[in-house]
This record gives sequence, structure tokens and C-alpha cells, in this order.
Amino acid sequence: MSAQLIDGVLLSQQLRAEIKQRATVLTAKGKQPGLAVILVGEDPASHVYVRNKVKACADVGFHSILEKYDADLTEAALLDRIASLNSDPAIHGILVQMPLPKHINPNKVIEAISTTKDVDGYSVLSAGELMTGLPGFRPCTPYGCMKLIESTGVDLRGKHAVVIGRSNTVGKPMALLLLQANATVTICHSATPDLAYHTRQADVVVAAVGRRNTLTADMVKPGAIVIDVGMNRDDDGKLCGDVDTAAVREVASHITPVPGGVGPMTITMLLMNTVEAAERG
Ligand code: NAP
Repeated sequence: MSAQLIDGVLLSQQLRAEIKQRATVLTAKGKQPGLAVILVGEDPASHVYVRNKVKACADVGFHSILEKYDADLTEAALLDRIASLNSDPAIHGILVQMPLPKHINPNKVIEAISTTKDVDGYSVLSAGELMTGLPGFRPCTPYGCMKLIESTGVDLRGKHAVVIGRSNTVGKPMALLLLQANATVTICHSATPDLAYHTRQADVVVAAVGRRNTLTADMVKPGAIVIDVGMNRDDDGKLCGDVDTAAVREVASHITPVPGGVGPMTITMLLMNTVEAAERG
């Protein structure tokens, strides 16, 4: 059996077309969705990420602003700027690109963003909303993974899902979203003694570790859905995920490629959260 590839590029295009329509309706009512992106410092990868986010906004008809600050920006100045964006009616979503320079406390910055504009879904309040099943903004990467799983048409009710990784931005919210969709959820991490024991029982595996070949074919139950969040480099410097895709493809029913799976969905779900913020606001 060769697994069906879940095409994150195609699904992103479809969702972005829907987001664009919703933005057009809002703009006609004088409420064009607006995203503010703040970048502090010179991290080259972050520069690429924010550029992509701003371009994605333009493509779906959003208003966006990109503010770049030198690495010596004070924490107080950043918090002041966030406070003024919180009260700016043209801005519905605020994103501060991580990582921040060492002298700025990222938790303080995340908590300074109004919950109604927390389109990254990283604040304690947003996490609490997810935890308790209240409407709110879901972190973009796990939210995108859920859309990828939904696109297979497989109902998660009663399925066993195993999440590898427990970060606040990916693993933990992923597990909560799967739970909300009525899956039975196991979370594995670096202290899990026998990872394969768990993954072999899984109908769905989400790998969010950051180490290539974490999930190999012998660790996968035949017919499982495999979502690969990892972003790593192979020996030739090519982008790869956490999953041994070529071999796991022969066992799984559905699998996301890297690149072209989870990656494009993350920005798409940022756009989704922003249009939702504008609709609510
Ligand atoms: P992270 O904060 O470093 O978390 C990694 C998790 O993996 C931790 O919970 C860690 O366990 C666990 N882990 C490490 N080694 C393990 C092992 N041998 N067995 C089982 N679990 C193990 O990383 P993250 O931010 O969640 O990101 C994970 C990966 O996804 C990275 O490659 C990142 O680049 C990628 N990513 C991709 C996107 C995208 O848009 N495609 C977005 C976000 C992240 P402990 O908690 O015990 O340390």
C-alpha cells in the first residue's frame, strides 16, 4: 500500500480562497482585516517568515503593517507599541515574531497582546480557552494539522491519536484539539521510554519533535494517518520532517510531505484567525 499524500499546498489554496472572499465582504463593510507583524532583531529566518506572512496578507486582501526594530529595542518600548496596536481599530491581529532578543521576556510580550487580537493563540488566556473548549484563537500549526486530518475525511471519534512532542505551541495544543474531536489521545515526549510501543497503536500520529527519522516504518500501524510537523535538514541540506516519509508511505494510509504539508498551513491558519478576529470585532 502506498499512502495518499495530504497536499498542504492545495488545501492552503482552497482555504485562502475562502478567506479572501470573507475579507472582501468585510472590506465592503468598511472593515478590512488588518494584521500587524512586529520583528525585533536580525534573525535571518525570522526575516523570511515575516516577509511571507505580510505577502500572504496582501494575497488575500488584508491590510498589514510590518514593523522592524533593532535588536536593542527595550522591552518597555515594545510593550508600549503593542498597547497602541491593541487600541488601533484597523488592526485585528497582532503577531510578534519569535524568538525575541534575550533581554525581552517573551511571556510578558505575548500576554500584552489583547486576547481579541492574539491570532497566534499563544497567550495563557487563549490556551485556557482551548483547554476549556471556549471559542478562541487556536495556535496556527496544530490548527492547520487538524484541517489536514479533516481533509482525509476520516472521523476522529474513537480513534487513537499519538502526539510526539509537548511544546506549548505545537504538541500540547495539538493534543487538546484531537481530544476536542473525540480522539483518545496519548502524548509522548523525550522521557517516554518506548515511543514505538505507543505509535504502533495509533490510528493517527502527529510528529512534532524536530529530529529527523523519529518515526520509522516499523513504528507505524498499517493504515494510520501520519502528520509530520518537523522541520529539519538532511545530510544534503534539504528540508525534511521528523518522519522517514519514503518508508512510512508504504505502511500509512495518509501522510503529509515535507515540504508541502504542514508548513503552508501554518500561515493559512494565521490568516484564518485574523479574518475571524475581524469578523468578531
Ligand atoms: P520543541 O519546543 O523543541 O519541542 C519538541 C518536543 O519533542 C519536546 O516536547 C520534546 O520533549 C520532544 N522530544 C524530543 N526528543 C524526543 C524523542 N526522542 N522522543 C519523543 N519526543 C521527543 O519544538 P516545537 O516548537 O514543538 O517544534 C517541533 C518541530 O516542529 C520542529 O522541527 C519545528 O521546527 C517544527 N515546526 C514546524 C512548524 C511548521 O509550520 N511546519 C511550526 C512549528 C514547529 P521534552 O518536552 O521532554 O523536551
